[in-house]
Amino acid sequence: MKIKIQGAGVGGLTTAIALKKKGFDVDVYERHEGRSDIGAGIVCWPNASFVLKELGMLDDIALQSGLPVKMRRISNDGSNLGALNILKLNEKMGYPSFSILRKDLMKVLESHLTECGVEVKYGNTIEKLVSSQSGSTSIHFENGATSHADIIIGADGRMSSVARAFVNGDNRPVYQGFINWIGVYESNEPIFFDIEVRDYWGVGERFGIVPISSTKAYWAGGVAALKVGDKAPSSYKADLLTLFQDWPSPIETIINETSLADLNKIYVHDHNPMKTWHRDNVLVIGDAAHAPLPTSGQGACQAIEDAWHIAELLENHNGDLESLFQEFTKIRFPKTTGITMGARQFASSLFGADENASEQRNNNSINTDYNAVINGMAKGWSSGLPICV
Ligand SMILES: Cc1cc2nc3c(=O)[nH]c(=O)nc-3n(C[C@H](O)[C@H](O)[C@H](O)COP(=O)(O)OP(=O)(O)OC[C@H]3O[C@@H](n4cnc5c(N)ncnc54)[C@H](O)[C@@H]3O)c2cc1C
Repeated sequence: MKIKIQGAGVGGLTTAIALKKKGFDVDVYERHEGRSDIGAGIVCWPNASFVLKELGMLDDIALQSGLPVKMRRISNDGSNLGALNILKLNEKMGYPSFSILRKDLMKVLESHLTECGVEVKYGNTIEKLVSSQSGSTSIHFENGATSHADIIIGADGRMSSVARAFVNGDNRPVYQGFINWIGVYESNEPIFFDIEVRDYWGVGERFGIVPISSTKAYWAGGVAALKVGDKAPSSYKADLLTLFQDWPSPIETIINETSLADLNKIYVHDHNPMKTWHRDNVLVIGDAAHAPLPTSGQGACQAIEDAWHIAELLENHNGDLESLFQEFTKIRFPKTTGITMGARQFASSLFGADENASEQRNNNSINTDYNAVINGMAKGWSSGLPICV
């Protein structure tokens, strides 16, 4: 069986590895000329670590990662709003959580794909997918070439997925009313003495720092914004320093010492949940199927989970693609929809402009039973996977 994957992001690469390890013949097409080093970082939560371990990649991921022990919430005046013990979550789910730069994760994924004997076909932009009467869709590349496969997996991301447009007729993501500046901070002097995720909350503003080591972290500064505006990199630092002036240390240091090359501004979009993820022999996965907001912490993890499920289902399939794709959607739709909607709710509490509501949110956080939160997270994130919690 020939399987062609559209997009060499986190989902496309992991799916290619999972399928290749089950003996399938896989090609991966990517529009960029080489591996993308853009982006800040990702926490691989235990559900993703389960898949990465199954695929034999967890040790290599660990070499590039930090092991966060806690997630602390802090108000913009420095007061403590509570903390979630990540080690307890790991223990409950039976797998570790790792903080890793996106470029390092991509490097590990690509090297494992190469070990499996597959090289990504870079510089191949898929322009459109065209249905035929036989039900075998043709892939049309921007360079004029066309191609076919038994299965086409659309892993072409959230912003303009060709595969999502083919399956759904529309691929427009939904702007969720806030901007994230994302960056990578690296210094010679250690400043993180605990590998703790720090989440600072203001009114309509948020700053998150995820350390990877004592000298390295990725971070995101978010602020509510009604409209998608212009990108003007030369003003990013000044804008951030104004917005997060007087916020607790080390926010100012981190902004000042992040190189402009490692700084990006993102108008944050997600997708409304879509019930159908396939048409003919095309299936969408990852952000193309279910892109949650970054407030979920699960975008990359869910793309990684898709890879494991599709490989398991294909290994045991009897030739009927329609029922296989339906089964995949049945397993994945409820979980990813819950994550998408939960992330919207959390984002609206962070980026709402109402001072009283923000104060109430902070009080709720202080009074939260974090052990109960851990139980809920472990139950939700392990669902559909053979993880006992
Ligand atoms: C550059 C970048 C930076 C990111 N940074 C972060 C981050 O800092 N933190 C975080 O949590 N999440 C980040 N994300 C999102 C997170 O990585 C996603 O939730 C997760 O990777 C989903 O995986 P995916 O494979 O579905 O999509 P993606 O990782 O977005 O991959 C989609 C791939 O498809 C390719 N593609 C798109 N259209 C076509 C086409 N027509 N033909 C061929 N190829 C195509 C894209 O170039 C891309 O490589 C980032 C994504 C990208 C692309």
